[in-house]
Amino acid sequence: MTAVTWNFERCAARDREDPLRAARARFQLPPDQIYLVGHSLGAMPVDVHEAMQRVLRSWGAEGVGGWNRSGWLSASERIGERLAPLLGARSHEVICADSTTVNLFRLLGAALTSAPARRRILVEEENFPADNYIVDGIAQFVGGDHEVLRVPGAALADAIDARVAVVVASHVNYRSGRVLPMRAVCAAARASGAITLWDLAHSAGAVEIALNDAGADLAVGCGYKYLSGGPGAPAFMFVREGMQSSLRAPMWGWLGHEAPFSMAPIYRPAEGMRRFLCGTPPILSMAALEAALAVLEPYAPVALAAKATALGEVFASRLEGEAAEHGLVIEGGTDRAAHGAHVLVQHPDAKQLALALAVRGVKCDYRAP
Ligand SMILES: *Cc1c(COP(=O)(O)O)cnc(C)c1O
Repeated sequence: MTAVTWNFERCAARDREDPLRAARARFQLPPDQIYLVGHSLGAMPVDVHEAMQRVLRSWGAEGVGGWNRSGWLSASERIGERLAPLLGARSHEVICADSTTVNLFRLLGAALTSAPARRRILVEEENFPADNYIVDGIAQFVGGDHEVLRVPGAALADAIDARVAVVVASHVNYRSGRVLPMRAVCAAARASGAITLWDLAHSAGAVEIALNDAGADLAVGCGYKYLSGGPGAPAFMFVREGMQSSLRAPMWGWLGHEAPFSMAPIYRPAEGMRRFLCGTPPILSMAALEAALAVLEPYAPVALAAKATALGEVFASRLEGEAAEHGLVIEGGTDRAAHGAHVLVQHPDAKQLALALAVRGVKCDYRAP
């Protein structure tokens, strides 16, 4: 790539040709702010106002009847189907429910009990800490006989052998933004009979994801980051079709029953993704997430990813000229292809810098160290 100087005119020209240009007006951002924290809480889609009002009107007009008449009961599956193209998955392989953390517990529990002879959980050392808390917690919960082996993301594929039950890793790292080679890790896992479980929190809506093509088994992800589903938006789960009937979720909830309203005394798991559901979904939150997905749907996932890369390139190259002088280190530099949609800039006084930027209306995020 030839280095270009991203001055204002060049950026404005690029904006005029941008295939995503029309989408800008469909988001509302905090006024007078340069909002650089979509990886933490995505911008608010304007249509969410009307989507929430619609649920409120149904609630008022139909009461409990809304579960059937307004499609609340099928929201988890319907939103999962709408999400699937963004994940490179088939529509019946994704379902929307609960939080990322809870879904991770559920799928990891299901995976471990499906492979009782294997006693090693391989995790990405630098993964989001909460993910590794779940892994450590579940290793104790299932009896304490499992060993949790933490290795750097780059060493995951080589560390997979016949002792490994499950590999848990983030596709895009929450801090560095680095993208792990999903296909290579999945191939190594498949060769050893291990199950892969991906966290897509920083991937969905930001980078191209090809779960089926890469051979992924399981995945979880977040609705409120790049998907812009709103604070605490429901998360999602993916289970590859061929594994769905052999996995049993550790939480046997009534909505995962084959006939929830039969009130049968004995649990029987539903066919397909519905068996991974547990309790009643938060319909107001789901309505916001569904409205947000409708904004993204007209655009090909590859176009969303290309825009993220282009924005990262502009941002990193604007900063690069001054980085060395101010002791800033841009992780990955200006070539953003191997990174997600956020840019990590390291500095010993990151916290003070973030506070000073906030005073000047630039909202960014910092994580120590
Ligand atoms: C944001 C994020 C989560 C969030 O989990 P919650 O259950 O929504 O709190 C989980 N994992 C990763 C990697 C994340 O970046």
